[in-house]
Amino acid sequence: MKQNNINIYLTLDYELFLLKPGNNIDFSLINPTFDLVRILNKYQYKAIFFVDAGYLFALNKYKEKYAKLENDYTKILTQLKYLESQGHEIGLHVHPHWEDCYYNGLEWKVNLKRFKLFDFNKEEAHSIFFKYYNFLQFHFQNKIISYRAGGWCLEPFSMVKDAMKEAGIFIDSTVVPGAFYKSKTHSYDYRKFPQKDYWRFSEDPSMINEDGFFIEIPCSPHKLSQFYYWEKLINKIFHKFQHRPNGEAIKPSFFGMIKKLMFKTADAISIDANKSNYLLDSFKLKEKLGHQYFCIIGHPKCFTSETYKNIDDFIVYTINRGHLFNTFSKSIFK
Ligand SMILES: [Zn+2]
Repeated sequence: MKQNNINIYLTLDYELFLLKPGNNIDFSLINPTFDLVRILNKYQYKAIFFVDAGYLFALNKYKEKYAKLENDYTKILTQLKYLESQGHEIGLHVHPHWEDCYYNGLEWKVNLKRFKLFDFNKEEAHSIFFKYYNFLQFHFQNKIISYRAGGWCLEPFSMVKDAMKEAGIFIDSTVVPGAFYKSKTHSYDYRKFPQKDYWRFSEDPSMINEDGFFIEIPCSPHKLSQFYYWEKLINKIFHKFQHRPNGEAIKPSFFGMIKKLMFKTADAISIDANKSNYLLDSFKLKEKLGHQYFCIIGHPKCFTSETYKNIDDFIVYTINRGHLFNTFSKSIFK
């Protein structure tokens, strides 16, 4: 029996986010990205990098004044241009909280009051999206065709629909089918979204429309058991969390964590830290169920030694089974 070949997308959110004072971009962004790419290069595999364009924009704004930021800016752009020259794909990632952040000469002062585009009015959201898109696109040869909303907060899609169309960005890869979360910063509910590998839509990403302009390529979901979060919590309490990632994400809210400790919750399949331990098993399950597309996420700031080992093992498994790492631009969506 011929098995079906799965298109695998490895998507990385290339972002700084909350940098701890004393930390630096080599440690939390540049080096982990190179470490990953070294592994991909062994197999000639390509990834998709969703670049936090607001961060780049903010660096550009302050770089004349601060030599350190000038240096960060140059390093990041050099790396990204190298990635593009190697056949990796650049996508747009929007974290609009950069609108309210500033650099005080020592560190970024982060304000998360307006964390998602919905925290702005529609005109502001449109202009932020376009400003970031133009700034990012300016530096790259290939047309940017894909978008991922910051913090998974895509809704309501009407906030970005026109801007995406105008920019010619027709792929969204934000949705995690089945996931939902609400906190002071975040808000999304993907419980009623199609449980498909990809679909077309026009106005509302939760509604399939075969003639729609947009394509949703969701982050492949799996259900992590409560035990994963209990283990994480216990390790934290006993300071045994040895593979500490290099960067920081927003901590889940108290109720968010309680929910994860009590119920099986849908989560995006990821190569971040110890989440990467579930990658291969999750893939094997999708393989068994006959899926054709598999979209993995990751954040260089959250890579650990587990990440590199697990992604290498994963690639070897997929090669032996005849599956293929792909980019969005090289894919054909019927
Ligand atoms: Zn992000």
